[in-house]
Amino acid sequence: MKNLKVYLIKASAGSDYSEYKKNTGGPPQNIFSTAAATPKNVAIEMTDEVVGMKVNYKSDADIVAIFMSTPDAYKAYDIARKFKEKGKTIVLGGLHTKFMQEEAKANCGTILVGEVEGIWEELLNDFRNNQLKPKYERTTPIDLAELNPYPLNIIDPAHYDYTWSVVVSRGCPYSCDFCLVPEFSPRYRMRPVKNIVSEVKAAKAWGIEWCELHSDNLTVNKKYAMELFKQLKPLNMNFYAETTIKISEDDELMKAAAEGGLKMILVGLETISKAALKEQNKGFVNPDKMKEQIEKINSFGIKVISDFLFGFDDHDHNIFEDTYQHTKDFKLEEIFPHLLIPFPGTKTYEKFDNDGRILTKDWSKYDGTHAVFQPKQMMPEDLENGTYWFWQKHNGFLKNALKSLLGRGL
Ligand code: SF4
Repeated sequence: MKNLKVYLIKASAGSDYSEYKKNTGGPPQNIFSTAAATPKNVAIEMTDEVVGMKVNYKSDADIVAIFMSTPDAYKAYDIARKFKEKGKTIVLGGLHTKFMQEEAKANCGTILVGEVEGIWEELLNDFRNNQLKPKYERTTPIDLAELNPYPLNIIDPAHYDYTWSVVVSRGCPYSCDFCLVPEFSPRYRMRPVKNIVSEVKAAKAWGIEWCELHSDNLTVNKKYAMELFKQLKPLNMNFYAETTIKISEDDELMKAAAEGGLKMILVGLETISKAALKEQNKGFVNPDKMKEQIEKINSFGIKVISDFLFGFDDHDHNIFEDTYQHTKDFKLEEIFPHLLIPFPGTKTYEKFDNDGRILTKDWSKYDGTHAVFQPKQMMPEDLENGTYWFWQKHNGFLKNALKSLLGRGL
């Protein structure tokens, strides 16, 4: 019997949201985790459209598995249709699939819902036995000790400018209304430190100097984070990661992080509106302290980048100028301003939908540059224009430090 071959594709519509993702992360978790979970006797081909790779429609794979976020859904369906015409078995996975299952099912043979480990192997077995089910769903969170390392030999790390990514944890103990993380990964889990260290070592041997410690909240468990930084220190690598501004409250943790090689963090400061932060269940961010917190983190040699969102119910016409005045002296390396995106699956989406405030379900517009919902205190076009105004104002004086940093400019 011929060996099975799978083709894993990360779809990208090339939106601003994809560009943001491209700039804030290395290899995407969905296709790389699926590749890592693929049995050794199955051949793998991979394409990441986010970094400009082109889909190979001549692929001889038996199964084409396409992963999508919401703004990339139509692109994923288009890829699926073209492969379906060639008689391939199509699988859809990723965040959008989990939260729009019926829509995804209509565009493929079967869907992967939730974390892929375990269900992907089951799907491959069923395919071999001609017993493919319409849906494979993981309902219990996987023990991260079971994760295999990301393969380094399928997509050339040069596509990521030799910036790699290693899974550290999944989930987040917080539950912010606009965030998909708690809905997709319901429990915060950490991977054994020794597994992370060995994967980072392998990446280093491949010539990689920068590595994302992939986590939605890297430092929430101090004991674990301290051990991780201690074990990473001898590797002499450069790391960046996502965490919360709460790291600024702990000097010991920041010192250990810096010594372990953490050079930059992405934190979600989100907005200067206390009412909006409270409403979104993110009250631990305090706008009055942001400036000093950033400077404190900087004092340990760790750079900070953050997004700022516009369109919360507390925001009126003044929010753009007010945010600019409040943040213009922040020592951030980069600010990513965008409109609030009510991703399907979030509490924010549910609320807006129930209130009849969702203006469009054209998913291609869920990219952070379009008002896809009716703001409470302004017109949709004012929200778009105001966010663009803020972006221009900040872009005037903030250099694109992330790219230069990742380009070894440090
Ligand atoms: S926004 Fe950040 S802190 Fe809030 S739930 Fe998501 S990952 Fe956790």
